[in-house]
Amino acid sequence: MLACGDFGRGASKEQASHWAGQRDRMVREQIEARGVRDPEVLAAMRTVPREEFVPPAVRDHAYTDGPLPIGDGQTISQPYIVALMTELLEVGPGDKVLEIGTGSGYQAAVLGAMQVSVYTIEIRPALCHEAAQRLRRLGYATVHVRCGDGYGGWPTEAPFDGIIVTAAPEKIPDPLLDQLKVGGHMVIPVGSFYQELKVITRTQSGFTQKSVIPVRFVPMTGEIERHLGRQ
Ligand code: SAH
Repeated sequence: MLACGDFGRGASKEQASHWAGQRDRMVREQIEARGVRDPEVLAAMRTVPREEFVPPAVRDHAYTDGPLPIGDGQTISQPYIVALMTELLEVGPGDKVLEIGTGSGYQAAVLGAMQVSVYTIEIRPALCHEAAQRLRRLGYATVHVRCGDGYGGWPTEAPFDGIIVTAAPEKIPDPLLDQLKVGGHMVIPVGSFYQELKVITRTQSGFTQKSVIPVRFVPMTGEIERHLGRQ
């Protein structure tokens, strides 16, 4: 069963269909139009109530074609980027994915709607607690949230079929590479001011990588900064 959002206590049917219409349009005009084709990704993007993941002040813009502020100086990614990164992961029902940078929980919810087990880590306590509560309220039972620094991954749940990083490090943390299954993909923005969205694939003998598009994510913070300082 797809996890489904409620539309807020007491919300009217008209409101629900208003948001569903916006979602449908977002998928057609922003996501399919740019070449995302995976039917499970498109179905998930049509299901997850993005308006529940943004602050009330920007709710009317929930389905616009860009990132939005979620508090604490952080952002929820542009819908197209969420869809693209999800497609690049190449995961499906029953797979296990590690996410670094829970933020609002939206990306995790999209994966949850695809019946993926998600292990997601958020370094900012306020965002983390809010996202965990939101995901619980909306019924995303396969999403597990941990508050802390994602640099070291989630060793007790490793290895993962896919790893998605939604904050940009300048260099990919080794512990994350170690926790990727052979054949699995890591989708990650790498760089400082200029970043490239990369897909790293683990092979029997090592890793391959390809660059997909230039992107702008908030920087990965915490332990990673100490590692860069030492170089
Ligand atoms: N995926 C999110 C958007 C993420 S914004 C969504 O769907 O809403 C990037 C998030 O990464 C921010 O919330 C930031 O606090 C978090 N972050 C940055 N460095 C981190 C780290 N080392 N470990 C875990 N989270 C981190």
